[in-house]
Amino acid sequence: MSASQTLLTVEDVEVIYGQSILALHGISIQVDAGSIVALLGSNGAGKTTTLKAISNLLASERGRVSRGAIMWKGESTKALDPSSVVEKGIVQVLEGRHVFSQLTVEENLLTGSFLRKLSRPQTADELERIYAWFPRLKEKRRVKAGLASGGEQQMVAIGRALMTRPTLVLLDEPSMGLAPIIVQEIFEIVKSLNEKENVSFLLAEQNIAMALKCATHAYVLETGRVVRSGPAAELLASDDLTDLYFGGAKTLGDDVPAAQ
Ligand code: ATP
Repeated sequence: MSASQTLLTVEDVEVIYGQSILALHGISIQVDAGSIVALLGSNGAGKTTTLKAISNLLASERGRVSRGAIMWKGESTKALDPSSVVEKGIVQVLEGRHVFSQLTVEENLLTGSFLRKLSRPQTADELERIYAWFPRLKEKRRVKAGLASGGEQQMVAIGRALMTRPTLVLLDEPSMGLAPIIVQEIFEIVKSLNEKENVSFLLAEQNIAMALKCATHAYVLETGRVVRSGPAAELLASDDLTDLYFGGAKTLGDDVPAAQ
């Protein structure tokens, strides 16, 4: 698959929650194969809503796409239920490190392969693949996920998503609540997964310095609109970006603390 092939197109998408809360006002974004695209913006800008619109997860929150189209490899995703979206190759890692706290780390990972109906040896291979990416999880495989550290829980959430063998991972604020050194470790793994396994990422983040260093392209959201977009390196180099939207955080570089 060539790096320039378009995987995902979000075209002029408007989202309404309930009867009248307009959360997205016509968002357009594109993710090409082999890319890492950052979706930047502060609290309430619409990042999570955009990801849930793509995964078809809005219905459970009484939300819906009221205008526009979402296309995956040229086909509309409108009629797909959330599990069919996963089967097509798009998986979302929800904000806030959702793990099944009473299940072990390994049992959590196994829930990710459930749609694939793998044989035992295939499942074992897949687990080893995840443990190669996250060696800490192998050490903790028999520990209840609720007792793992925040960083490990984020790794479990990402590992479980990888068990679906995705083409595109929608990663919602992986830095939230984690120490900068753990955030860095996770972002390095994301970059390696992208380079070595050609997994594409759409990465929602408030930690712009980290996200822009990892991403190839970025979009900045503000109150449900794209207010800026371009190659990540260009945005990282532009002086006005952080002043305009993030209060100058970029100048802190890698020391920018994780959001919240
Ligand atoms: P955060 O980092 O806080 O998650 P975000 O950029 O992901 O921010 P969203 O969570 O997508 O932003 O929120 C966009 C807008 O939609 C906000 O005004 C928010 O209050 C509203 N919103 C989000 N979820 C719901 C919901 N379930 N019902 C009603 N309004 C919602």
